[in-house]
Amino acid sequence: MVRTLLLIAALLAPGTALAEAKANQLFGAMKTASRHQPAAIGSYAKGCAAGLVQLPETGPTWQAMRLSRNRNWGHPEMIRFLQDLSAEATRNGWRGLYIGDISQPRGGPMTSGHASHQIGLDADIWMLPATRLNLSRAEREKISSIPVRSADQRSVTSHWSAAHQAIMRAAALDDRVDRIFVAAAVKIEMCKTATSTDTRWLQKIRPIYGHDTHFHVRLKCPAGSAGCETQSPTVAQLSKGGNGCDDTLMWWVTEYLNPPKADPKKKKDPQPRPRGPRDYTMADLPAQCATVLSSQ
Ligand SMILES: [Zn+2]
Repeated sequence: MVRTLLLIAALLAPGTALAEAKANQLFGAMKTASRHQPAAIGSYAKGCAAGLVQLPETGPTWQAMRLSRNRNWGHPEMIRFLQDLSAEATRNGWRGLYIGDISQPRGGPMTSGHASHQIGLDADIWMLPATRLNLSRAEREKISSIPVRSADQRSVTSHWSAAHQAIMRAAALDDRVDRIFVAAAVKIEMCKTATSTDTRWLQKIRPIYGHDTHFHVRLKCPAGSAGCETQSPTVAQLSKGGNGCDDTLMWWVTEYLNPPKADPKKKKDPQPRPRGPRDYTMADLPAQCATVLSSQ
């Protein structure tokens, strides 16, 4: 720990290699939260977080999975939300929820996996219904979630259930939630089977690639996080009463899954790989992130 602090102190000294140090290495090395008031800083895919709290590894209605990753840290509002949603899961026949990655102890870019999950406001929730809440650490490393989408990506599998839909609906109706990412086939199924006359909650369910073994809940910027950047709102559709069960959704199935074949005669210009979160240095992140990193 002392060595880590010395390393960071050296990196933060003016005129040093800080500008070149990879932010994901620095944040990935943090084992505990910063000692600050809780705050989400920056944007979901370019930021960090102060004063995060750890989701208890096991609670009355949840277990955190893959503990070795040390990514069960979130903004207190996210931790409360997950506890609430896991209680809701028990009202739909599940024992609770298995919770995947939230954020690193101080958020920030990661050395593997997600582009987002950087400010303590994103969480992955397993599609595998929790049946027992006494999984050992070793079991939580070993067992896998289940795919609720078919291999051809076009429909849901027999693992999909009314309980999944009810739990995601409850999440979408929660005012703290900004959006929920899930495989397109799942949203299509939800659009088909939603029975309520008010389907506006479906607007928060956003189709995306992957996300067939978990769904990803993103919260809005909480009060007290002045440096948190809200995403461009999805209100444009909402104001028209839209629920996203439309052509945009079908685009995922018709276009995204069936991209036009590239013309082999066309000469390809070598495209440089776009810079992503794994390339970020501290200079790319909000200035407050250096303070978050240097906290004891
Ligand atoms: Zn995620």
